Amino acid sequence: VHEFDLIARIRQAASDDPRVPLGIGDDAAVIRSAAGGEVVAAVDTLMEGVDFTFPPATPELAGRKALAVNLSDLAAMAARPLAALVAAVFPKRRGAEFAGRVMDGCLALAKEFNIALAGGDTNTWDGPLVLSVTVLGEPTARGVVRRDGAQVGDAIMVTGPLGGSLLRGRHLRFTPRVHEALALHDRFDLHAMIDVSDGVGSDLQHILDASDVGAVLDAAAIPIHPDVQLTDDGRGLLDRTLSDGEDFELLFTVSPDDARRIEQASLAVRIGEIVEADTREIVMPDGAHIALPRGGWQHRF
Ligand SMILES: [Mg+2]
Repeated sequence: VHEFDLIARIRQAASDDPRVPLGIGDDAAVIRSAAGGEVVAAVDTLMEGVDFTFPPATPELAGRKALAVNLSDLAAMAARPLAALVAAVFPKRRGAEFAGRVMDGCLALAKEFNIALAGGDTNTWDGPLVLSVTVLGEPTARGVVRRDGAQVGDAIMVTGPLGGSLLRGRHLRFTPRVHEALALHDRFDLHAMIDVSDGVGSDLQHILDASDVGAVLDAAAIPIHPDVQLTDDGRGLLDRTLSDGEDFELLFTVSPDDARRIEQASLAVRIGEIVEADTREIVMPDGAHIALPRGGWQHRF
């Protein structure tokens, strides 16, 4: 059983609720209060041995990453972060100083993004470090940007280079694109957006599925991070760039006019186009069309 099959089953079982105008299936949920106010909420759990290991992670970097991945999900909605709740399960054998350093890393990033640590829960056990962070944000006056708004003819854009984030610890130190998302949302009409956590090959397909459209990527236009070239594990350069994941750049679609202005301002790079639903492919530099890989990270049972 794959992670996405389980999510689909949970999503079916969770009935629609008017208090949740946007529920399971986007980067974050939107919850509406009786008074009409809206909160954008996301939660993510990181586990030692899966999402980071010591070393190369330090306790501070583990704490930082647990909050950063959540801020990245708020960025993917173009929501403004407000506060975080941190649930931690600390390994007894690593002691109290270790736990303090984990929280220091988390608090430093909270301060950097001017959000409140509003609460949480601390536990100890004989297992590895587990951190579950919930972030709360608010929509701007323009509302949130969802995954399901991509339109045929849109340009597909990405805010930075992709691939190789695990190799030199970039996945531990990345800056969530919160400010970039808010600046883009303020100036342009973002049709659909997601953060690149599993790899563009996989994350773009979430936008395509939600929006019921297809895509043609231009391989030559995809910005490849220099870290990708550090390995040669048998997969091609492009395959690694599209499927390594944990880049935490933003992937979004806009009208061709907005795309031109965004490129002129060097805010993002155009990597392809949204087309009718039956096409999902990449045009290689030699002109060959290949199927867009579904690749990318999935938890499995
Ligand atoms: Mg996400």
